[in-house]
Amino acid sequence: MVINTDICILGGGIMGLATAYSISKASDSKILLLDRYGIGNDYCSSNDVNRVFRYSYGNDEHYTRMAVESLKLWKNLEEESGQKLLLPTGLLMLQGEDQDANGFNEASYRTLSRLKLEAEQLEAEELEKRFPQFRADKGFFDPHGGVLLASKALYALSSLTQKHGVTVRKGQATRLIFGEHPSIETAAGEIVRFDKLVLTIGPWSNTLLSPRLTSMVSTRQQLVYFKPQKNLDLFRPRTCPVFFTDKHYGLPTAGIDGVKVSPKELNDPVDPENANRSVDNEQIVACRDVCRRFVPDLADGELVHTKVCLYDMTENSDFVLDRDPDHPEVVHGYGFSGHGFKFAPLIGRLLSELVLDKEPNFPIENFSADPSRRRPTTVGAHLGKGK
Ligand SMILES: Cc1cc2nc3c(=O)[nH]c(=O)nc-3n(C[C@H](O)[C@H](O)[C@H](O)COP(=O)(O)OP(=O)(O)OC[C@H]3O[C@@H](n4cnc5c(N)ncnc54)[C@H](O)[C@@H]3O)c2cc1C
Repeated sequence: MVINTDICILGGGIMGLATAYSISKASDSKILLLDRYGIGNDYCSSNDVNRVFRYSYGNDEHYTRMAVESLKLWKNLEEESGQKLLLPTGLLMLQGEDQDANGFNEASYRTLSRLKLEAEQLEAEELEKRFPQFRADKGFFDPHGGVLLASKALYALSSLTQKHGVTVRKGQATRLIFGEHPSIETAAGEIVRFDKLVLTIGPWSNTLLSPRLTSMVSTRQQLVYFKPQKNLDLFRPRTCPVFFTDKHYGLPTAGIDGVKVSPKELNDPVDPENANRSVDNEQIVACRDVCRRFVPDLADGELVHTKVCLYDMTENSDFVLDRDPDHPEVVHGYGFSGHGFKFAPLIGRLLSELVLDKEPNFPIENFSADPSRRRPTTVGAHLGKGK
């Protein structure tokens, strides 16, 4: 069977949906979005209880500015969907023993202060008074931090997108075909002919990526949720910020009665087709140890949920948002390197501008698909370490 569409989007995670949403608002194009496992599947990186929103990006002002822009777009989405998607909690960055992490926290404070974004420095006494859940000699507070209700956002976008006329279907692209009729072939043997194609297939990007383009590696990330032992109310979004410790981060009990704790970075490259999707016991123990040091009430708390999720890492953790240099009708969005969710509405808008041949209204030079035009690896502070 041959299907014709103006724009085909592969991948119905948050990035594909946000792109479909933006295109559908800006044009009358016929849009078909295909996802291999369907919207809200358990394998994609976007379908989880919650995700961190923050302005803090160490010295990297570009991402801070992107977060400022994204916040406005999240608010628009909340308004259009009539749903609360982002809970403002602030981000508390706790100083510990890791010099990279401490450097990131201080640099974030300096950047936010320079941009007049109201960051605060908290000494021990003030820290204990305001946030008795935590133990540290010093902290920095980014008041713009918050919790994105990830799955809820995914379904809200899916429903708005379909309301705007986008066709959303299950389907796996197995091959891209170029020539007189650019098309994709699906696992079911269909041919989808398109004028423009958007590839947002996250950790599976390598399956359809030319080796000439910026490479990515799928890595396995582990998340655990602990129930506080004594005072659950102290850990609700009303009273508890998102937090960073030396090598871990955590989120209050938003969307679940458990506090999420996870390593900021864990290099565990995997093949997304057969990644082990259960959490290792040693990670649970490591998360408990971190809590013993920084958040004592969680250290022996009941383990209420675990999840494994895949990052799509580029070498320098910068995204790829670009047209394909060999096939300009193809637009790539991948390499979100474990920190893309907060920017989803902005990324959707930028990818939509590339598809519709408009000038992107935010600088995207850092996000080239051409490996020779990427920033060096040392710049990265995206996951909360390094300056
Ligand atoms: C554990 C974890 C914690 C994170 N925490 C944060 C955070 O706190 N803050 C933040 O900003 N970001 C965070 N991120 C990053 C963020 O979640 C991701 O950057 C984002 O969800 C990526 O979305 P995506 O749409 O690109 O990919 P995905 O959500 O993975 O979607 C890709 C989709 O493509 C489909 N697909 C694959 N192959 C094909 C094919 N051949 N044909 C059709 N469909 C296909 C899949 O079925 C999948 O649904 C985190 C990520 C993880 C894994």
